[in-house]
Amino acid sequence: MFFPKDFPEKLRSTVLVSEIVGKKVRLKQRGKEFLGLCPFHNEKTPSFTINDQKGFYHCFGCQAHGDIISFVMNAERMDYRDAVIKIAGDFGIAIPRVKYDEAKEDKLSRDYLLLEKSAQFFEKNLYEDAGKEARNYLKKRGLNSNIAKKFRLGFALDSYEKLTDFLRAENFSETEILRSGIIGKNEKNRLYDKFRNRIIFPITDKKNRIIAFGGRSIGDDMPKYLNSAETEIFKKNQTLYNLANARSAIFSKGFAIVVEGYMDAIALAANGIENVIAGLGTALGIEHLKELFYTTDKIVICLDGDAAGIRAAKRVSEIALPLISARKNIAFAFLPGGLDPDDFIKKSGSKELEKILLAATPLSESLFEFALTELGIDKNKKISAEDKAKIEANLNAKISVIADFTTKRHFSSFFKNALFFRLSHSGEKNGGKKTGGGKNNFSSKIHLKPQSDVAENLGKQIIALMLKFPELTHFRNQRFDIHNLHLSSEKMTRLKDLIIEKTDISEFANEMAEIKNLLASLGNTDLESGLIKFRILLLKDLLLQVESQCMEITDHKIEEIVNYKSSLQFEILDLERQII
Ligand SMILES: [Zn+2]
Repeated sequence: MFFPKDFPEKLRSTVLVSEIVGKKVRLKQRGKEFLGLCPFHNEKTPSFTINDQKGFYHCFGCQAHGDIISFVMNAERMDYRDAVIKIAGDFGIAIPRVKYDEAKEDKLSRDYLLLEKSAQFFEKNLYEDAGKEARNYLKKRGLNSNIAKKFRLGFALDSYEKLTDFLRAENFSETEILRSGIIGKNEKNRLYDKFRNRIIFPITDKKNRIIAFGGRSIGDDMPKYLNSAETEIFKKNQTLYNLANARSAIFSKGFAIVVEGYMDAIALAANGIENVIAGLGTALGIEHLKELFYTTDKIVICLDGDAAGIRAAKRVSEIALPLISARKNIAFAFLPGGLDPDDFIKKSGSKELEKILLAATPLSESLFEFALTELGIDKNKKISAEDKAKIEANLNAKISVIADFTTKRHFSSFFKNALFFRLSHSGEKNGGKKTGGGKNNFSSKIHLKPQSDVAENLGKQIIALMLKFPELTHFRNQRFDIHNLHLSSEKMTRLKDLIIEKTDISEFANEMAEIKNLLASLGNTDLESGLIKFRILLLKDLLLQVESQCMEITDHKIEEIVNYKSSLQFEILDLERQII
């Protein structure tokens, strides 16, 4: 670390968000807040707000949200440490010195040097006679020498002492050699090379310094993959393969792909997909995810679509939950046919792989599917209320660990929707198509005639709020996207769309007169309560649509409809409580 642990907090309390953002974005003050055009998405009306008191920015359009440090990280594409250093530099804030231990630094630089020399030794071996078999293996896997050189692949000779001898000749002491994690010592106190007859993959830290090696056996030696032992500079649970190489591609693509093995990462990079990193043969842990989330907002975990892959995804999804937020998210891409990414590219090409990566399943959906598998519930069969209760309990337990309040709430409403809509529809497939209500008259009891005046009134209030707060014309959350939202009232849907497109609305002169009245009655409502009102209105409108759909649904769904209705009503009440 280049700065003491509490230094970022000091920056946050010294530098205002508006000062940082103001360097990039023209800001207008409005009340306690500042408003400007969002630098993270394209927009014509400002929906990017800054609250200096609370120390954060928030975009109502793209949901970008964060503090001074995350702003610089995203706007300048820097990692956390560099962003802190930049802010301190820009504002002339001296970074307090961290105590510097000369002896320790010296020791570390010897360790790096030893590993760098070893890497050169392994590289040289690969291109000599002894490396022929290894070169053939790489060729068979489709890796040419350019790629091998780029990843600094090497070869460990089939010998117990060649590397040890080389390091001694390079004047490294026995203590230094033993500290490296790549040389062992037997009962007879003799040093020996741990990597023998293996292809060598250098593992680097974020600064591209070699900190360890992975080795793949090309003979029958077990294990197939072997890593350096952990050392002061190599911690498996914090290290990701290829992160240094991949960083700039991760920044420009906006996400990181995580694959299982070294060969997968190299195969993807060799085929032009460079924003890829790999685990070190051990399972991905929370420290790995934290490290990645410093670099990017989105992580796509690419796995085999077989049972083992799904198990791995399930495990990752659980450790990721405490880390996700409105900005930071994680998704899963499953490859068909039990193929690993390397084989998949050979079979179908990198374009097809990219398609699968872009269509990765978001965490929320994955959790839902995992809950079904975990409980052994087949979503294609009719699902009992008891099973639904089990699913809901399973999901609630999972989202309870999400730290980010907004995300937790959206996951919760997503699950409620999924439980209601998806499972009820899939259940219906087996029972034959809907019978149109003729078969029973139960459904007619809950048939509600379309309440057109209520619908229109809700629409007008929604539009009045959009006129008062232009940022609402970009409103989007897990349930609603104002841009393609269909309101209960056809007419108001059209007017809403025209207002968003900023086109002629003269055909709505009558309606607009009424809307202007509503607008006036909003008086000095502030953005915060305006936003809550807006969400209440959208929910009420959705409720109306659910009610009018009742006529189409068969009787065994009534209970679920009532449940769903009350969940919506509950959400409305909950929001209403917030503005009282
Ligand atoms: Zn934005």
